[in-house]
Amino acid sequence: MNINENYLNLSDNYLFADIAKRVKAFKAETPMADVISLGIGDVTQPLVPAVVEALHRAAEELGVAASFRGYGPEQGYDFLRDAIVEHDFRGRGIDIAADEIFVSDGAKSDTGNFQELLSADCVVAVTDPVYPVYVDSNVMAGRRIVKLPCTAENGFVPQLPNERVDVIYLCYPNNPTGTTLNIEQLKVWVDYAIRENVLIFYDAAYEAYIQSEDVPHSIYEIPGAKQCAVEFHSYSKTAGFTGVRCGYTVVPKVLSPTGVVLRRVEATRGRASEGLLNSLWNRRQCTKFNGTSYLSQRAAEAIYTPEGREQVKATIAYYMENARLMRKALTDMGFMVYGGVDAPYLWVKTPSLTPNPDLTPSPSPKGEGDFKKEWSSWEFFDWMLRSAHVVCTPGAGFGECGEGYVRLTAFGTHENTEKALRRIANRL
Ligand code: PLP
Repeated sequence: MNINENYLNLSDNYLFADIAKRVKAFKAETPMADVISLGIGDVTQPLVPAVVEALHRAAEELGVAASFRGYGPEQGYDFLRDAIVEHDFRGRGIDIAADEIFVSDGAKSDTGNFQELLSADCVVAVTDPVYPVYVDSNVMAGRRIVKLPCTAENGFVPQLPNERVDVIYLCYPNNPTGTTLNIEQLKVWVDYAIRENVLIFYDAAYEAYIQSEDVPHSIYEIPGAKQCAVEFHSYSKTAGFTGVRCGYTVVPKVLSPTGVVLRRVEATRGRASEGLLNSLWNRRQCTKFNGTSYLSQRAAEAIYTPEGREQVKATIAYYMENARLMRKALTDMGFMVYGGVDAPYLWVKTPSLTPNPDLTPSPSPKGEGDFKKEWSSWEFFDWMLRSAHVVCTPGAGFGECGEGYVRLTAFGTHENTEKALRRIANRL
């Protein structure tokens, strides 16, 4: 038996395991330390009452023969697809049909699986730093990957690739940098994709956190995007569904990218490329996926009720208040902070070393004095853990361009967030 050797090309991504190991070792050495995590990407606030009620109702229904439901439609129930169309798209002036929506168990599966529709010789572009799923799922398929650096110098806006690529993954608001593209900046990508026949995979998992008027919630707000983009949504951060599991993917029927694979399919099978990705994704899901649970879909539907919308908005406001506090406090301490305005993530530049790091390993964020170099992501991680008992995520774990940064999340409780900020300030 031969294994898929592409799997051997996966880098050992031990990021979160490494973090856990270091935290565990520190706790063993310092059992009294009250360690606060500002590193995790998971939420802390409970499900909102409208969702809990919907879950109860759905559970009761399933417990009665007359309303019991078994396997549901692989694409999702109409009640949810219709609610998505109405509230996430029509309400924003976007024309998406229910049969262009595919409900799933979350955006990780869909962003990881969608590449299966592409041939192995497609060239894939991703930003650096990046959500690792895009990279790893394409490494598993043996594709060549082109990295587009996102740095403070380019405002974390990637430049158009300077070589031919077939697919580009964009994630805005971005994990990990917390930065966004405004309508004009996203239009550059849509125009490029149409001009060059490039397919865009647009991950809108953090769309609900957008506060600024000029930041699009969906790529389909940009004219022409339905011809070139698939869009992924998740209820995980929108409504605390990291454990409930539900999301959806939009595959427009007019989508007609004619990159490597589709040109070839069209040529050899006589099939029009228009509608092809929609029907192939449908085929793929019907073969490999047996639908999202009824409970999760009823729970997701509840987010679109008037009460549900208000309640979910309040939870997001709670996290964004953390983000505001973090931005302010860290900026006042002298750190360079990016993101956190339209996203629950803050991307913080590591500070400089003090002149004598061996004697007093303490950072000087203002960069004063006779400094040698900036701290690496992991050096700063260790300082935060050991001095402030705060866990962050080293940016280097998200790609080469993440070196020299750490990611902080606004998903903690107010109490812990404030406590963590006070501790960091006291240690400087
Ligand atoms: N996309 C991005 C950019 C994410 O950060 C995450 C989760 O952290 C996901 C997708 C996965 O979301 P889900 O929980 O819906 O699988």
